[in-house]
Amino acid sequence: MVRTYRYRLYPNKTHQAALGNVLFAACALYNHALAYRRKRWNESRRGVWYNEQAGMWRDWRNEDPADNPLRLLNMSAGQQVLRRLDSAYREFVKGKRGRPRFRRLDHFNSVAFKPGDGAALKGGRLYLQNVGSVRVNWHREVPEGELKHIIIVRKPSGWYVCLQVEMQKNIPAHSLNPLVGVDVGIAHALVLSDGTVFDNPRPLQGSLPALRRLQRSVARKKRGGSNRKRAVLKVARLQEHIANQRRDFWHKVTRGLVTTYGTVVLENLSLSFMLQNRALSQASHDTGLGMFRELLDYKAVEAGVEVIAVYPRNTSQVCSACGSIVPKVVCVRVHSCPDCGLVLDRDINAARNILRLGRSRWGVTWPVAEGPAPAGGERAPRCSPAIAGRVRHLVAGVAELRLLVDPLERGPAGNQRDEADPGQGCQGETAATVHRTHRVSGSVGIRSSGP
Ligand SMILES: [Zn+2]
Repeated sequence: MVRTYRYRLYPNKTHQAALGNVLFAACALYNHALAYRRKRWNESRRGVWYNEQAGMWRDWRNEDPADNPLRLLNMSAGQQVLRRLDSAYREFVKGKRGRPRFRRLDHFNSVAFKPGDGAALKGGRLYLQNVGSVRVNWHREVPEGELKHIIIVRKPSGWYVCLQVEMQKNIPAHSLNPLVGVDVGIAHALVLSDGTVFDNPRPLQGSLPALRRLQRSVARKKRGGSNRKRAVLKVARLQEHIANQRRDFWHKVTRGLVTTYGTVVLENLSLSFMLQNRALSQASHDTGLGMFRELLDYKAVEAGVEVIAVYPRNTSQVCSACGSIVPKVVCVRVHSCPDCGLVLDRDINAARNILRLGRSRWGVTWPVAEGPAPAGGERAPRCSPAIAGRVRHLVAGVAELRLLVDPLERGPAGNQRDEADPGQGCQGETAATVHRTHRVSGSVGIRSSGP
């Protein structure tokens, strides 16, 4: 797995000017290559792809050696720029995005180097071709692994270097912590099936008045003036600050989830669907839902935690205790079931439904061997070791399984305890899981406490 670590750079005035020139040259190359593609298409209706342009790049760089701005850019860094253009074109051809456009020369904010080719870490500093040796704030150790790329990034708050490191693959054992269902929402950032609520920090809401004030101040300034430039920078800094707050929040939440739980079940929500809805789009942008999945996924892999995405249909409408459908609009925050009398926060009800769906998926997808267990203990099921491990993990949660089985065997009258326990209210498919597990272990007694 490739992970990125970001460190702050402290370039002096000369370095800053040189770094700016490198980005300038990268953007000039991008525009140059784009112009060539467009010209070729207009003349002969033939596309140009990366391999062809990579050959041209050498010639462009060697033209007019005395006064050629492209010479400020390292050879392999230029190749990365051409790859960027190439992937933009491929997306365009697939219809996923618009036609690549020419960029303003000061609008490039990052450029990637191959380590050892124009960029290297030397003596605690970062060496860059045509720039020099720049001081780095090593606020944390660079982890062991193969360094893949060194990326220079310009942000409103200053310069940074991102180190992309290929980490060693050591697959951890599957975590034995309990399962949890997670409802991702707008009113609360996350609601878990055990009742834990992570409230939304809503950084943008908090900073919106300040942002509006700064944006009005930009609008009052004369176009092209240095005052306007300063005001624009203030807006950009505030926006970066908001983004940092958001990222910090999700890092903490996802770390908490993977250390506490062994399996995380969530809805397979498409972000684009939420962004299409105008009422939800700002709020879902503000919470950074896309970032949540990205951070959770890699942390889960490293901690041996399984993330299951289930189909989100009706998770907020179904009663988590009896399974009947209780229709409600978005603004109704309380789930109140007329059939079994369960009264519960709407999001907690949804989280419990999600947990149930995650469990039922286990029941459906895991082939488990039939027949009596041999005398020598647990017998090997006819399935892959990974699946067998998960089945064992399921067996480990015997207490949880009891809670699952009780209401089923007791019938509808057993639903009074529902509010206290998130694991109840399972459907028939989940019961299948329980009984199969029972057979595999051969030693787990699931006691029926029904009448
Ligand atoms: Zn109900």
